[in-house]
Amino acid sequence: MNLIFLGAPGAGKGTQAEIVSEKYRIPAVSTGNIIREALKNGTPTGLQAKAYIDAGKLVPDDVVIAIIKERLAADDCKNGFILDGFPRTIPQAEALDEMGVPIDKVVNIFVADDRIVKRMSGRRVCSACGNSYHLDYKRPKVEGVCDACGSALVQRKDDAPETVSERLRVYHEETQPLEDYYGKKGKLLVVQGQEKVEDTTALTLNILEDNA
Ligand SMILES: [Zn+2]
Repeated sequence: MNLIFLGAPGAGKGTQAEIVSEKYRIPAVSTGNIIREALKNGTPTGLQAKAYIDAGKLVPDDVVIAIIKERLAADDCKNGFILDGFPRTIPQAEALDEMGVPIDKVVNIFVADDRIVKRMSGRRVCSACGNSYHLDYKRPKVEGVCDACGSALVQRKDDAPETVSERLRVYHEETQPLEDYYGKKGKLLVVQGQEKVEDTTALTLNILEDNA
C-alpha cells in the first residue's frame, strides 16, 4: 500500500505515520530524514541538496523529488511506503504523479487550529536535559522545574503561539489544497485527531482497513 500522510503541524501526522509503518511493515519516508540520509551517504542528490543547505537556502523541489525517487526505488519500498511531509504543495503532488509513483490513499489527520495552538503552546522542555512536559497532559511535579534534573523548563520558539499560527497559515495556504487534489481522485481519507494518540491510532487503522 502506497500512502501519503497529511496534517497540519502539530496534528500528530508523524506519530500516526510511524505507527502505521510498524503495523503494515512499510517504511515511513519522511522528507527531513531522507535528506539527512542522502547527505550522510554522500549520494549525488545528497551532495546537490548539501550545496543549498550550506548556503542557507531551501532545497528546491526538483532536488527533493530526485531524492525521494531514489528512496522509493529502494528494496524496502517494494510492498509499499508512507510519505510523510511530502508532497507539501500542488506542484510537488503533480511532480509525484509525473514520476509515475502510484498513490493508493492519502490519510489526512485533522485537528482544528485552536486545538493545535493550545496543544503546542502548552509544551515545555528542560533547558538542560531536554526532557519534555506539557502544561495540560504531562505537568512537571514543580511548576517550571524539570522532574529529572531540576533545571528550568522553557518554551521552544517553535512552540510559541505566534510561531505555530504562522506555520498553520502557511499550511492552509500551501498544503491544504492537497485535500481537494486527492479528494477529487477519490483517495482522501480523513481522520479526526483525538486528544489521546491511541484513540487517533484506532481511527487511522480502522479507516485504512475499511479502505484497503
Ligand atoms: Zn532536565
